[in-house]
Amino acid sequence: QLPLKVPVQLPNGISYEQPTGLFINGDFVPSRQHKTFEVLNPSSEEEITHIYEAREDDVDIAVAAAKKAFDAGWSTTEPEERVRCLLKLAELIEEHAETLASIESLDNGKSLFCSRGDVALVSKYLRSCAGWADKIFGKVIDTGADHFSYTKREPLGVCGQIIPWNFPLLMWSWKVGPALATGNTVVLKPAEATPLSALYACQLVQQAGIPKGVVNIIPGFGKIVGERICTHPDVKKVAFTGSTATGRHIMKTCADSIKKVTLELGGKSPNIVFGDADLDKAVKNIAFGIFYNSGEVCCAGSRIYVQDTVYEEVLEKFKQYAESLKVGNPFEENVFQGAQTSQMQIDKILSYVDVGTSEGARVVSGGKRIGNKGYFVTPTIFADVTEDMKIVKEEIFGPVVTVSKFTTVDEVVAKANDSEYGLAAGIHTGDVNKAIDVSNRVKAGTVWINTYNNFHQNVPFGGFGQSGIGREMGAEALDNYTQTKAVRMSI
Ligand code: NAD
Repeated sequence: QLPLKVPVQLPNGISYEQPTGLFINGDFVPSRQHKTFEVLNPSSEEEITHIYEAREDDVDIAVAAAKKAFDAGWSTTEPEERVRCLLKLAELIEEHAETLASIESLDNGKSLFCSRGDVALVSKYLRSCAGWADKIFGKVIDTGADHFSYTKREPLGVCGQIIPWNFPLLMWSWKVGPALATGNTVVLKPAEATPLSALYACQLVQQAGIPKGVVNIIPGFGKIVGERICTHPDVKKVAFTGSTATGRHIMKTCADSIKKVTLELGGKSPNIVFGDADLDKAVKNIAFGIFYNSGEVCCAGSRIYVQDTVYEEVLEKFKQYAESLKVGNPFEENVFQGAQTSQMQIDKILSYVDVGTSEGARVVSGGKRIGNKGYFVTPTIFADVTEDMKIVKEEIFGPVVTVSKFTTVDEVVAKANDSEYGLAAGIHTGDVNKAIDVSNRVKAGTVWINTYNNFHQNVPFGGFGQSGIGREMGAEALDNYTQTKAVRMSI
């Protein structure tokens, strides 16, 4: 039988005890059927450990624990207590930051540079949620002298949360933080590829004094655990981050019981460089926009449009910059891009490289797998693409970018908006009027001007079109975890 904790030695010398159980009702427990699954290190393709695999019956037990915790008082607890718990959790995340970042690099393959950024945002975001937890306001509505009318914002109940593998701990915090701040309880399923940091963080949930059953984390597979979360009658909301195809399926499943659904889905985000931009800065931003986190970013700026007057110059600078980025062992300090997260991902990326080449796009840089152990691939730039190519239309979810030319503002706005997605857009220009004009006209939930992939815990993030429903971070995230009750009293 698998022990509930196993020793793990990280490549940077840190050793720690990895929880392997499901986190239900405040404790780590084996799954009911005692099934386990293997967790792989994508940099070496070697096993890190096995962990317990949840099944439908485990979901039912976790939901019952979450419902009991909700009814037993978390939903009506003093807001100050929720503030205290979330602040303590943020502090503990900070104390354990280097271990958490290292676990993330081991499990996901991302560079320590990326993992450290993730973990820093996790604690900032949990603090931001703590700040909201005692500021959930309704309003008084003037309905005349003979009635008193007001609204309250109440929690929803048990929230099912399903997260992907590209930002395992960050997504954990984007889901758990606002749910807890507003008095909900959660049953969360991490991605099967990257469950380790979520389980480690449950120890910090225990230490923060968050009551038993408020947070339940159950690793397992989407088609089993994810499905049961979506069909369970006591789950009142499902919050999902992942692919648009799975999001669509989840929305249909949740329709049967009219569950509230928020979806953070895919993208194919345009990143525009005008001729009047600071080109060196723009090149750094477009590179960061696509190669950060090995390109496994839902809002990656994967379609670059460069004004014709500076096209060749930007392309040359971009090639040089991309080729200067160090790719390799995520634990080496100056490595920018680590491994892709899974065999499936690297196969998908390399198949898109073949597709782009056969579609007639020009490979300016990269396009190759690195080594024969670990899922490493070179940053890849395709130029001279046309809008109808698959590599321009479809989300690749890797360090692969297309570059094409435009002449006028109207032309580039039309191209930028020619996508079913609408998660983000980037604009690089020295002309503030142009920046605002184009930001008004692009269809995207986030527009970055002279920057990219630049997040702040108080700025909402989410998609237009098929990139999703609802917003994360900022005050908007809290709205998605409350429902309005209207009270009207006759005087
Ligand atoms: P996915 O959307 O299938 O998986 C995301 C999460 O959903 C995982 O926890 C998974 O277990 C769960 N899931 C899968 N099927 C489910 C179901 N039927 N019901 C409930 N939950 C379910 O993504 P993937 O298969 O891991 O990756 C496929 C592609 O999705 C990637 O290549 C990438 O293009 C895209 N992706 C996008 C994001 C994003 O943030 N936009 C994140 C991950 C993957």
